Amino acid sequence: MTLQERIAGVEERVARACAASGRDVADVKVIAVTKYVSLETVSAVLEAGLGDIAESRWQDAEPKWNALGHKGTWHFIGHLQTNKVKDVIGKFQYIHSLDRLSLARELHKKADAAGLTVNVFLQVNISGEDTKFGLAPGDVPGFLREIAGLHHIKVIGLMTMAPYEAEPEQTRPVFRGLRELRDKLNLLALTPEPIQELSMGMSNDFEVAIEEGATWVRLGTVLVGHEEGA
Ligand SMILES: *Cc1c(COP(=O)(O)O)cnc(C)c1O
Repeated sequence: MTLQERIAGVEERVARACAASGRDVADVKVIAVTKYVSLETVSAVLEAGLGDIAESRWQDAEPKWNALGHKGTWHFIGHLQTNKVKDVIGKFQYIHSLDRLSLARELHKKADAAGLTVNVFLQVNISGEDTKFGLAPGDVPGFLREIAGLHHIKVIGLMTMAPYEAEPEQTRPVFRGLRELRDKLNLLALTPEPIQELSMGMSNDFEVAIEEGATWVRLGTVLVGHEEGA
């Protein structure tokens, strides 16, 4: 399948999931996850008009960002080591994986030094799997209170990853749980502005995530492919 065909296929599936759940397609943004593809493919993805690019490791992202960082909007979606914050700050406009206080402090410090504010998603481990990063849902209110003074961090959303399921429908409670957590947090009004965004849904389960309220879906394999050795 060509890149154009993949993009068209994803657009059609996003539209169908929106129609099925009474949502406006304009409220669901697609991020192209390029961690499995080459620099040439990232370039083609940008040329094709997909402006949001995501990577999950700075080491892999570096050559791509150096060549193409001036184009598009870059999202960091992987586990972020505190000592890598200096590499990503000012390059990635969105960080989807804030999951601990030490990382919040470092992001704030480096953003402050750079004179900018970084948009973040709190990663939440809704499924409760040991293998997943993320705050426990019950810890999120306290976490928001602790970082409230870090003005160079703006919490715009929540992010989660569902376990891989052969039957995507089985992921629904995870996505629903993230949406319900967001709504609960907004009732507590712990952020200056309501938390709007939900970063959830990957190649295997994005339609279910959209039906449950995803505002950003992170798509790798189904959208840009998976190249051996890239
Ligand atoms: C790799 C990755 C994705 C995309 O995975 P696909 O299943 O290929 O769509 C999305 N989110 C995160 C956090 C990832 O690491």
